[in-house]
Parts: sequence; structure tokens; C-alpha cells
Amino acid sequence: MNFVRAPLLAAIGFFCANAAAEQGPSAPRVVAIVDATVVHPDRDGADAIRPHTTVVIEGSRISQVGPSSSTPVPKGAQVVDGAGKWLIPGLIDGHVHFFQSGNFYTRPDGLDLTKRVPYASEVARNKARLAATFKVWIASGVTTVVDVGGPLWNFEVRKAAQASEAAPHVAVAGPLVSMVADPKLELDDPPIIKAATAEEGVRLVARQLPYQPDYIKVWFIHEQGTDLAAQEAIVRAVGETAHTAGVPLAVHATELVTAKAALRAGADYLVHSVGDEPVDAEFLDLAKRNKALYCPTLWVISGYRYAFAGLWRPTQAEQRLADPQILAMMRDLERIPKEELPPRIVERMAEAKTPPPPTMMLRNLKSVHDAGVPVVMGTDAGNIGTLHGPSVFREMALMQEAGLTPLQVLRAATVNGARAARRESTVGTIAPGAAADLVLLTADPTVDINNAARIYRVFRKGRMFDPDELIVSIR
Ligand SMILES: [Zn+2]
Repeated sequence: MNFVRAPLLAAIGFFCANAAAEQGPSAPRVVAIVDATVVHPDRDGADAIRPHTTVVIEGSRISQVGPSSSTPVPKGAQVVDGAGKWLIPGLIDGHVHFFQSGNFYTRPDGLDLTKRVPYASEVARNKARLAATFKVWIASGVTTVVDVGGPLWNFEVRKAAQASEAAPHVAVAGPLVSMVADPKLELDDPPIIKAATAEEGVRLVARQLPYQPDYIKVWFIHEQGTDLAAQEAIVRAVGETAHTAGVPLAVHATELVTAKAALRAGADYLVHSVGDEPVDAEFLDLAKRNKALYCPTLWVISGYRYAFAGLWRPTQAEQRLADPQILAMMRDLERIPKEELPPRIVERMAEAKTPPPPTMMLRNLKSVHDAGVPVVMGTDAGNIGTLHGPSVFREMALMQEAGLTPLQVLRAATVNGARAARRESTVGTIAPGAAADLVLLTADPTVDINNAARIYRVFRKGRMFDPDELIVSIR
């Protein structure tokens, strides 16, 4: 990192924001984005794309949206030229984990390299790096995230984000109420805790409620030979306790049978695809009955597979927008002596076989979407090979590949994401009164969702950020 340059650029990054001081201490900061093409993912047809539009921001909220010809720029406003650019609501990632970094040391239950990097050091690193991770999200145009489970420390993450200028809005769940233990992730504040009975599940929920979680999350792992009905009863007891306290239930359930059991037990949010067989009418009916949200997390398994085969390479967006420290660590597998790696990893690296596309998940996403179940874009960022921030562009590309139009993908990543974050009244739309969480792009995201990565500026609570300056500031 360049120690001299970084603070200077960071200061320039905040200059625009500080210009508000010139308008007087009590006046809110006013910004006008003029002549942009505004994309409204909550609308259909021609209404969704409004060229030559002016958006006025006062303080942290949008105050006006209208044709540039008839929407005057307020006196003293800072003007941002939107000509030839596209303005979308800030993106929302409905599935992330701040206690994980995306590197090879972050899931010792999947790849144990703790002799090289003890798990406690990895978690400590992630805590120390939190402010930088927040900046990475903002640089990628993501202004709201939902952390669907981690240590009790997650509640401090939410607080830190609230107190920070350059951070997304963070909704959180605490430790996962799980069907199985995960001892390799157990430090003093475990992210996953086993509930063997309904009573134990209820106790785990009660322990989290004082922290005011945005979700209670269940890790519904159904191993062969275990009693599905008994597991469903635990999930139901957990869900009822959460619902009584006004907290929705999020469930990890990746097979059709467990996903259906989760919905029967009251799940409000399925945080993964059904990946083993095609979804059926019963599944779709149950999802609709619960008004459940469906987050397909299409990339995350491929992320592991590419990483473990030694084939993970950063995309252009990752090269520009990912945490440079994590990017550098993604080359570690090649550097570790083979005798320190598990034989199955050495084998996979020797084979170097390109992982298959997630065909069943893609197919199910299209079915679920077409049946009218609200789809939420989410990456499961923090898992090995799924980096905080720019992995949203990998995810959205796969959603487009599944057959969703770019506008439908944007809807999943904004309006529906706002529902997942339980903030639908304030984020996910470009309208007067909404939070001024916006992304200004240099290419049209409605013709190809990959253009959503072409970020010029990001606005979070009305403050403007240059993504490249944000990344330089954390080098
Ligand atoms: Zn997850």
C-alpha cells in the first residue's frame, strides 16, 4: 500500500460530502444528479426507464425526481452531470456473512489450513478489517446487506455500520440454530449452535431476542438416516418463538424435502436455492402461502469449486472493487506446499477440471420466479471464493443466465432485497422520501446486467463516493 497517497485520496473522496458545510451548519447537504437515465426496477415497461431525469437529494433522502426540463436544481446544490449515465437504486445483497472473508482460511470445516492460519486469527482479522469490508460493499454499489447468521458479534457489526459514513445498512441474524454441530468453527462466540430438541431451539432463540435480531436463522442440515419430522418440529418451535417476538424466520434448506419442511414449519425467507431436484407445485404453493422470499445464491458453490480446483480467477469487477488483501490471498493455494493440503484438494488441483454450471439451481430460479415467488439477489459472500462486494456481479450474471431479464434481476437486487432487509419503505426505490442510496453507472444495466458493474459513483445516505478512491483508501 502507498501510505502517503491513500489518506490524501480518502480526503478528496470526502471533499464533496464536506462541501455541505459551506451551505451553513443547519442546512442539509443538497445534491442534484441532472439528466441521468433513471431505472425504476419496481416498475414495468417504458415506465421503468426514464431518460433526462433529475434527482435531488437533500441530506440523506431523495427530495425530488422529475424530468430535467421541469425540475429545477436548487440554489447552492452540488450538481452531478448524469448525461450518458444510468441511475439505479443502491444494490441490496440479501445473503452475506461478515465473520467470513472469502479467503482459504475462513471455513476450516470445508478446508482445514489452521496449522498455517489458526481460525481464531482469521476471525480476528475479519473483525479488525470490518471498516474496510464496509467500504468494499459501498464501492460495489451495495448500500444494504443482510447478514443471515454469524457469532453474536454480528450485532456489533450492525451497530458499527450504523455509526459509519462509508458502510451499507446492515440487517442481521445471530448464531444459526442448527441441526448439526460445527466444532471447527467454535471459538468463544460460535456462529453455529446445535439444537437437539425443540426446547433447546427455543432457548437459543430466547438468548438472541434481547439483541433485536432482524431474523432468526436455522441451518437445516438433513443427514441421511436422521428423522426429518423431528427436525421439522424443531424448526417449527424455533419459528413460532421468533414469530411471537415479531421476528421472521430465515432457513438454510438446499434440498426439496428440507425446503418444503422449512416452509411447512413457517419459513419466511429461504436463503438458498433448492438444488437437488426440480421445485414442484407443492413447494411453490407453500412458498406463496408463507409469502416467502427466495434467495438463490447461485455462485457460492461454484466459488468453492473453482477455488479448490486452483481455478479461481478474479473477474474484472473483482480486480477493481474487491478487498486487495483478499484478492492477494486468493492465490495462496498455489503457494502452500502440497503436503500441507488435504489429498482431495491436491487431486482436484491436479485434475483442474472446470466446475459444471449450477444447472438445477438455474432451472429452479426460473420456475420460482415465473410462479410469482419474490426472488432476492444474494451471494453468501464470505464463503471461500465468494468475495464481499463484487461477487454481486457474478451472482446477477448467473440470474440473467437463468432467464431473468436484466430488469428482473435488478428488481431482485433492489425492491425485493429491501423486503429481505425489512426496509421496503425506505430503500430499493428512487422516489421522494426514499433513502438517497443510489448508483450512477456508465453503461445501461437494462440491456445487460453485467453493466451494473460499470460504476461511476455511489451514493449512500446522500454522501457521494468514488469506488476507486474507496479501494485505494484500504490498500
Ligand atoms: Zn450463508
